[in-house]
Amino acid sequence: MSSPTAPQHPTSLATDRLAGSDPAAPTGAPSAMTGRPWTCPFCSLLCDSLQLAEAGGALVLQGSDCPRALRALARFTPGAVATPLIAGQPASLEAAIEQAAQWLAASRQPLFGGLGTDVMGARALYPLACATGAISDAAEGGALLHGLRALQDRGQFTTTLAEVRNRADLIVCLGGSPGEAQPELWRRVSVGTPDGPSLVAQREVVFLGTPVDPALEGRPGITLTAIELHGDLFDTLSLLSARVAQRRVEAPPALAALAERLRAARYAVLVWEAARLPVQGTLIVEAANQIVDRLNRHTRAALLPLGGADGLASVNQTFAWLSGLPLRSRAGPRGLEHEPVRFDAGDLLACGETDALLWIASFGTEAARPAAADPSMPVIVLGGPEVEAPPRGVFIPVSTPGIGQAGHLIRADGVVALPVEALRDQGLPSVPEVLRALTVRVAALKIAVKAAASRAGERAAAMMSAQTTAQPSTQADAEADTQADAGARTP
Ligand code: SF4
Repeated sequence: MSSPTAPQHPTSLATDRLAGSDPAAPTGAPSAMTGRPWTCPFCSLLCDSLQLAEAGGALVLQGSDCPRALRALARFTPGAVATPLIAGQPASLEAAIEQAAQWLAASRQPLFGGLGTDVMGARALYPLACATGAISDAAEGGALLHGLRALQDRGQFTTTLAEVRNRADLIVCLGGSPGEAQPELWRRVSVGTPDGPSLVAQREVVFLGTPVDPALEGRPGITLTAIELHGDLFDTLSLLSARVAQRRVEAPPALAALAERLRAARYAVLVWEAARLPVQGTLIVEAANQIVDRLNRHTRAALLPLGGADGLASVNQTFAWLSGLPLRSRAGPRGLEHEPVRFDAGDLLACGETDALLWIASFGTEAARPAAADPSMPVIVLGGPEVEAPPRGVFIPVSTPGIGQAGHLIRADGVVALPVEALRDQGLPSVPEVLRALTVRVAALKIAVKAAASRAGERAAAMMSAQTTAQPSTQADAEADTQADAGARTP
């Protein structure tokens, strides 16, 4: 029997490009820039009409005062140096990859979490998930599932930022102002701004269950209304849905009037944010879906779901087109499995149902890594330089898409994959580079284990064969031996 041949050590192939510990290594990123066009990667709006300049090494945002982008950019301080760590001790990139690969190859149920990366990162992650049978769930996987489960159950009718800008005359914000987490939203859809092409001269913006966004007050071309909830958000939407369907149910006057305005609108848009919805938020999304469904029988209406920052929308869509399944999935020995509830990363870690964690946080703005029930569990973090390193695990600092790494990200409305550029050399490898090296090394280790098992099997078979040869091989041989023994004992 021939033994499989182990491939070359991958990190030797990757050493030149994966020179994260060598800031002088070329990565294709320019070292300086002044007021260059920039697509912001720090929320899923992916604002692409901004500029970045450099002043004293700091990154300076131009064309916006978005607090979210400013906070994110402030982390890229000049002169920051990051090196790979193993158990808190500096290590070479090759050593860190080797240790991580050994843990993943030996793991019986790895978990890939965080998933803060771009399309190329997701494309590099998927083969590693298949090779290791890993479960993949994002840092905000629970929020993602609200809309996903509603979509799986009944489908949905969503719109784009351009459609909102050009057509929406009534915008209803469900449960919170979307301008808080997406500070540039109103400008992107030309609500209350004189600039930008828009086919709608006058709009109404309704805040359901939340105060009017103060950022919109006093702006031209909009009417602002705040309506209180009647019970919770689900109760309110159910009632609104019934009134939109013209069922005879009692409703507070403000809610009944909103139902009439929705019916009269030429293009109504219901905006919701996944991260704001409570547990079982799918029910709220389904209620909103029903309203849109009913309105589309005589006018136009759509949902605008917001969320999917930190690579969530990009990784989810990439996994969906590669495997046919969204996140919270596993490509394991039993084929492809999608478990929207059971494959919750936080629960898996808390219940000790996984024995190795690969956490990806290349934006540095992802939610915190959940605690594991077993503190000795191997943890590998691929993160921005300021991401907390696991005290006993492996930390590999990586570049950020849109800052030190070129790539693509998918916008919140799901219709555009926008390119992001590498603006400066962070002196760090990218997530795809590290993942590709890990995948090759894990494959080599698994082949080596199989080869060792195969050799052990051959040795065991050979030993059994030798023992069999030493024993009487047939009944006749056994009888002859018995007679010979008897003859030898006869005096
Ligand atoms: S709204 Fe989002 S994408 Fe736009 S500048 Fe702010 S953080 Fe960046």
